[in-house]
Amino acid sequence: MDDLASRLAAVDARIADAARAVGRDPSEITRIVVTKFHPASLVSDLFRLGVRDVGENRQQELTAKTQELVALEGLRWHFIGQAQTKKARAVRAAASVVHSVDRARLADALDSVGEDGDVLDVLLQINLTDDPGRGGVAPDQIEPLAEHVVGGCPTLRVRGVMAVAPLDEPAAAAFERLAGYAGRLRTVVPDADWISAGMTADFPEAIAAGATHLRIGSAITGERPPHL
Ligand SMILES: *Cc1c(COP(=O)(O)O)cnc(C)c1O
Repeated sequence: MDDLASRLAAVDARIADAARAVGRDPSEITRIVVTKFHPASLVSDLFRLGVRDVGENRQQELTAKTQELVALEGLRWHFIGQAQTKKARAVRAAASVVHSVDRARLADALDSVGEDGDVLDVLLQINLTDDPGRGGVAPDQIEPLAEHVVGGCPTLRVRGVMAVAPLDEPAAAAFERLAGYAGRLRTVVPDADWISAGMTADFPEAIAAGATHLRIGSAITGERPPHL
């Protein structure tokens, strides 16, 4: 717990430094702690340290942890992984925000399981690589996907864009492109001003490029246990 507290404090200090270095207010940045593969007890420890935003990338793990930790009031779960349409109901039941909407079928699936009056915040995941297998909508499909969600998915609210930096390119350049894509999304959804970008290896670059939501795992949690 002491180590966790000091890693969290160190990352928050680096976030604040990176924000001030580019003239941004650190308080406008949401730091999501990615807890995938770690036990639910780690999430409880983080909650006790004041963390209110956590991220998971697998539906089954998300569902299990949210059920185990229902007592942690005010904790927001961000779903950041690839979602199968048949898991849409489970994802929607557990997540406050879905960062990984990258196709109309997934948007439709998430929308169709929404209750009347219930609105789910979603981000459009953008693929910053040329490899369709990496997940995310191709940049030239941003406007059509946004128009589909706005026009056809009344229980979803598009808040912005999400991306993972490519492995073979400096993150700063990739995140600059992402900022441009975020601007294009705002031509369809003017108030969609969230940019979810930046992980352990590249969050200062993401902050410099305007990220509003950082998804930071191992720098805070320590090394992840092996996949199950
Ligand atoms: C695991 C993961 C992260 C966090 O990665 P770290 O390098 O541990 O900070 C962020 N975003 C996504 C989509 C992830 O799957």
